[in-house]
Amino acid sequence: MNIILMGPPGAGKGTQAANLVKEYGLTHISTGDIFRKALKEQTKYGVIAKYFMQFGHLVPDDYTIEMVREYLKENTFENGFILDGFPRTIVQARELESIEKEFDFTIDAIINLDKLVKRLSGRRTCKECGATFHVEFNPPKVEGVCDKCGGELYQREDESEEAVTIRLDTYNKQTKPLIDYYTMKGTIININ
Ligand code: AMP
Repeated sequence: MNIILMGPPGAGKGTQAANLVKEYGLTHISTGDIFRKALKEQTKYGVIAKYFMQFGHLVPDDYTIEMVREYLKENTFENGFILDGFPRTIVQARELESIEKEFDFTIDAIINLDKLVKRLSGRRTCKECGATFHVEFNPPKVEGVCDKCGGELYQREDESEEAVTIRLDTYNKQTKPLIDYYTMKGTIININ
């Protein structure tokens, strides 16, 4: 079973993906995570992506499509996979079809957009283990310190209020039209 997971940043796609991994043994493929890893390792894609990611913009289609194409070609997924964060533009959606992967469902995670700026800009991530907290909704016991491993907590560059606002605007303009695209194909499931 292959699934495309859509929805604005902060809608809880990561949480839903983790549930689907547990329930169905699917592999979670997050293009955001792949870019962040590439950035850390300073690979070709990481160097290009950094510039766009830090301000909350999309990485240009050419690089993103090439990276996903390589990733899907180089890996095998026994029970299928969840594509989280791709496609994000109509061009990417059309290219995905040419990569010849069959998709059973497209899940659209729906959320009130007003809540998202607060939810995302209050998020803090552990530098060591990647655990996430929220300054208001899920604060760590000691401010700035990870409950799980004692690592230092930081705010991701693309989770500043300015970057989050740009990311939501980008979502509305470039990614939301894809919901109509998949609705017309008849494969969409809405989850609140
Ligand atoms: P995410 O963690 O999914 O919100 O992705 C973090 C960032 O990675 C995004 O704000 C974009 O800069 C970049 N990114 C991830 N997926 C894509 C994509 N499909 N197309 C373009 N940029 C992407």
